[in-house]
Amino acid sequence: PGRLATAPRLRPDDVFIAVKTTQKNHGPRLGLLLRTWISRARQQTFIFTDGDDPELQLQGGGHVINTNCSAVHTRQALCCKMAVEYDKFIESGRKWFCHVDDDNYVNPEGLLQLLSTFSPSQDVYLGRPSLDHPIEAAERVQGGGTVTTVKFWFATGGAGFCLSRGLALKMSPWASLGSFMNTAERVRLPDDCTVGYIVEGLLGARLLPSSLFHSHLENLQRLPPDAVLQQRMGPRQQAPAQAASAVADRAGGRARWLEQGCPRTCTSHPPEPDASLVFCVTLSYGGPENPRNVVNVAGGFSLQQDPTRFKSVHCLLYPDTDWCPVHKQN
Ligand code: UDP
Ligand code: MN
Repeated sequence: PGRLATAPRLRPDDVFIAVKTTQKNHGPRLGLLLRTWISRARQQTFIFTDGDDPELQLQGGGHVINTNCSAVHTRQALCCKMAVEYDKFIESGRKWFCHVDDDNYVNPEGLLQLLSTFSPSQDVYLGRPSLDHPIEAAERVQGGGTVTTVKFWFATGGAGFCLSRGLALKMSPWASLGSFMNTAERVRLPDDCTVGYIVEGLLGARLLPSSLFHSHLENLQRLPPDAVLQQRMGPRQQAPAQAASAVADRAGGRARWLEQGCPRTCTSHPPEPDASLVFCVTLSYGGPENPRNVVNVAGGFSLQQDPTRFKSVHCLLYPDTDWCPVHKQN
């Protein structure tokens, strides 16, 4: 009961989760992810970095990829990593590609639940738009000196986003084997914008906005408090049937939205699609510049012990974890 009657159930290893990181973050950021959500999503998760790190290699169980991209925060370096993520996904043969940053917490079960409402052969591009309007870019087509304007929506990379295999395959002329870098140069925009450009601007498919993905561009304190996170973040503890059917209902309407193409000038915006689903698929934290921008979860860890709140979130989702505070029965 509670299973979607359609397509065969999506399995965890149908999903390819690419985590983008960089050498200097291995200690400060990756350790936390490996101890929390990645420990529950080992077969799905691949870490893309820019330097050799035998210790990380060991912890990552062979799922660490050195992209050999340069370790700087430039458009070229970031696009280089995205290109490698894309190629590795295509090579993997998996059904879904999801990209996250190394300051994201992923709720693997929530993610699976969300993706299972779509078919991987549909054109699906899911994520949180970082702007409330489409971005407008000057497009330089190679060879000719002509510049045209293109408008498109894109999902912010810092909140994570997903692509179906069907759509990813269609992207290949602009994304595979190094062509992603050239495509990014055409619009001179960062990696996540370039994905939107390929999907909407070049292929005429569209971004399906989802409020289940969260970046530190948002006010994370305003997310549902712990009781709600605990009950609804992930369908496991609470009413799986209800969650699944709500997702399915929404998915019907959203599938129809996806079928409306969007050639070159995507200006309309669909209504917030999954506002009634409160569980989260990704979270983030503000970091040293904005330490207060964290999700508001109580639990066994103080702000000092758990400044990102990821440990607290993890213990809500997986209270059986050996380092989680023991839950008192009352
Ligand atoms: N990053 C990278 N190379 C760099 C700097 C950052 O690959 O030189 C990655 C980093 O690991 C993270 C993402 O880019 O996954 C975003 O970086 P960060 O969170 O530091 O900055 P933001 O853009 O979110 O402010
Ligand atoms: Mn960040």
